[in-house]
Amino acid sequence: MTATRLPRGFASLDQPASWPPPRSRPRPEQLERPLDVLPGVGPAIRKRLQKLGLQTVGDLLLAAPFRYEPAVPERHIADLLGEEEVAISGEVRRVSARRARGRLTILTAIVADRSGSVPAVWFNQTWLAEKLKPGTRVRLRGALRRGGFAVKAYDIGEDGEATADFAPVYHASEEITPKKLRELVGAALAHARDLGDRLPAALKEREGLPLRADALHALHRPASLAEAEVGRRRLAFDELLLLQVGIARRAREREASIAPSLGEPGELVLRYRKALPFALTPYQEQAIRELDGDLSRTLPMQRLLQGDVGSGKTVVALYALLRAVEQGRQGALMAPTETLAEQHFLTVEPICNELGVRAVLLTSSLPAREHAAARAQMASGEAQIAVGTHALIQEEVAFADLAVAVVDEQHRFGVEQRRALAEGRSPHVLHMTATPIPRTLALTVYGDLAVSEIAKPPSNRVPVVTRWIPQERAGQAYTRLRRLLDEGRQAYVVCPLIEASETSLARAAEDEAARLSRGELNGFRVGCLHGRLKPKDRRDLMASFKAQELDVLVATTVIEVGVDVPNATVMIVEEADRFGLAQLHQLRGRVGRGGEQSYCLLISRAKEELTETAVARLEALVRTTDGFELAEVDLELRGSGELLGRRQAGLSDLRFARITRDRELLERARAAAPELADDALLADEVEACFAGADPAPSA
Ligand code: ADP
Ligand code: MG
Repeated sequence: MTATRLPRGFASLDQPASWPPPRSRPRPEQLERPLDVLPGVGPAIRKRLQKLGLQTVGDLLLAAPFRYEPAVPERHIADLLGEEEVAISGEVRRVSARRARGRLTILTAIVADRSGSVPAVWFNQTWLAEKLKPGTRVRLRGALRRGGFAVKAYDIGEDGEATADFAPVYHASEEITPKKLRELVGAALAHARDLGDRLPAALKEREGLPLRADALHALHRPASLAEAEVGRRRLAFDELLLLQVGIARRAREREASIAPSLGEPGELVLRYRKALPFALTPYQEQAIRELDGDLSRTLPMQRLLQGDVGSGKTVVALYALLRAVEQGRQGALMAPTETLAEQHFLTVEPICNELGVRAVLLTSSLPAREHAAARAQMASGEAQIAVGTHALIQEEVAFADLAVAVVDEQHRFGVEQRRALAEGRSPHVLHMTATPIPRTLALTVYGDLAVSEIAKPPSNRVPVVTRWIPQERAGQAYTRLRRLLDEGRQAYVVCPLIEASETSLARAAEDEAARLSRGELNGFRVGCLHGRLKPKDRRDLMASFKAQELDVLVATTVIEVGVDVPNATVMIVEEADRFGLAQLHQLRGRVGRGGEQSYCLLISRAKEELTETAVARLEALVRTTDGFELAEVDLELRGSGELLGRRQAGLSDLRFARITRDRELLERARAAAPELADDALLADEVEACFAGADPAPSA
C-alpha cells in the first residue's frame, strides 16, 4: 500500500513543527493531552468541545466525519445561475448585519470578483463581520438563493480548507462550527502516528489495509471519496476486530460456567398467561419458545430480546422471571434508571400479587430501612422477584438463588456478570432492547448472543402520527392537545433538554408546568414529573396519572422509557431539535399504546436555525415510526455504534464501522479474530473496549 497522498493546499499541515521524526516510536501519551494544547483552544472552546465528547487530542484524531462535501465547480460571479452548488472567490466590499424574525440574524457581505458582485449571506454568524473587513479575500461555497449567495462554507484569506472539495464534515454543534472542528482536527493530525498500529504487517498486507496513520490522513484530508473510504475501512476493521476478539473470549468464559436448568414450563406461568388481559402475539410466543429452550439447559442463557418500544417485551421478560420462581429460585429485572425501575415495578407488582409471588423494589434512593428490608428478603429468598437499578448488583446485595436476570435497555452488565462468573455459577440472562438492528446482523455483531425479535407490536396498535411544528406555530400544537384532552384523552409535554444539573432540570420542568397551567393548559389538571422527586412522590404521581386523576404530565426525559398509560394519546416535545433520534423515538413510544390514534408533536426553532443533523433527525421521525429504519438513520447520522455501544455489555462505541454497510468487513474481522485471540498487544484494547467498569446509565 502506498502512503496516502495529501490533497494540494495542505502541505503545511503535513509537517507542522511538532511532527515526530519518521519511524520514531509512537507516543500515546501525546493523545491523552487536553485540547487546549492545540492553537486556538482556550477554556471556553474547550468546554464546548467537551459537550461534543471531545476532550483530548486523541478524541479529535478519531472524530469520524459523517460525510464529505462534494466536489463543486468554480464559478465567476457573473456566471452564477440557479441553485447549483459552486465555489466563488472574491474580495469583500462591505458588510452589514440585521436581525430577522425570532432569534435569526443575517449577515450580508458584498463580494466581488472581476466579473461582478453578489451579496453573500450567512445566518446567525454576526461575529464574522469583523473578519470580513472590506478588501478581505474570501473563497465561498454555496448556492444562489433569492438573489443572494447562501454561504455553506467559507475560507478567509488564501488557505482553502473549508471550501475544498471533499472537505470533511464532522458532528458539529451550534457552538462549534464544522469549520472550527475541521481546523482542530487538522492540527491533531500531527499526532496520527502516536496512535500506533497494532495490526500485524502480514494481516494488513493480506487484507489490503493501509497503515493506521495513513488511514487517518485519508479520513480527514482525502483527495477523493474513494481515498476517504480506504481510510475509514482500515479504522473500521480495527474496531470490528477488537469486537470479534472480545466476543470470542467472552464465549469461551461462558462455556466454562454453569446455570441451573429450569426444566419445562410449569403451572405458575400457565396461570400467568391466563391472568393476562390479552392473548400473546405470535412474536411473543416465538420469543417465549426460544427462551424456554435456553432455560432448560445449564449453559447460561445470553439472549437478546429486541423489539420496538411498546411491542410487548416486558410481558415476555416477566415470563422469564416467573420461570425462575416456579423452580423455587429468584428472578431479577434490572433497569437503567430509577424511574424505569419504578415503572417496571408498577407493572410487575400487581400481576405478582395476583399470582402469589413476592416482588420487591430495590433502588439506591430507597430509605435505608426499606433498602435493608428488601435486601434481607432477597438474601433469604423470601423475595422471589427483585426489580431495581444497578443497586441490584452492588457489593452488599446478595440473592439466595438468582436464576434469571433480565437487563433492560442500555445497561452495562459486565461487572455483575464477571462477579457471577467468579462464583462459578451464573444466571440466565435476557437482554432487552428497543433499539433494534436486523436480526442476522445482530447475530454477527453480538456473536455469542442469541437473538429473539418481536418484529410487530400487538395488532390493535395504530401508528403514531408525528408532526414537526416550528416554534411560532406552537399554539396550534396546544390547540390540538386541548381538543384531545376535552375528549377525555391524556397528554405528555416534554420539556427542553437543557444542559444542566438534574436539579435545574427539575426546576425548569416545574416552571414550565406552572406556566402551562396558567396559560395553554388552563383548566386542566397538570402534574410534573422529573428526576428530583422523591421515589414515593414519583410513584404516587404516576399512579394518579394512570388513574386519570391528572390530564397532563409535564416531564423531563425521565418518561423516556417504561411509562405505560394507554389513554395518553398525545405528546408535545418542546425544543425537539435538542434531543437525539433514539431518544425522541423512545419518547414517542409513550403514546400510541392503546387502540386510539395518537399524536407526537415536535416543536423546534425554524429549520434555518438548526444544524444539518437536527433537521435530518426530525425529518426521519416524521417520515417513519419504524424503529429499525430509524436505527439505520441514526447510525448514518452519528456514524457510530452508539446503538451497540451503550446498551450492550460494556461495549464501547463504534466510530468508524457502519454495521449495516460493513457486513463483509465484519466477516473478515471475524475470520481474523481467532488467530489474534491471545495476542498480548491487543489484550489491553480488548479489555478497554469491553470494560464493564461503568455500570452507570448513560442517559
Ligand atoms: P415494551 O416493553 O416492548 O415497550 P410492553 O411490554 O411494555 O412493551 O407492552 C406495551 C403495552 O402493550 C402494554 O400496555 C402491554 O400491556 C401491552 N401488550 C403487551 N402484549 C400485548 C398483547 N399481546 N396484546 C395486547 N396488548 C399487549
Ligand atoms: Mg417496556
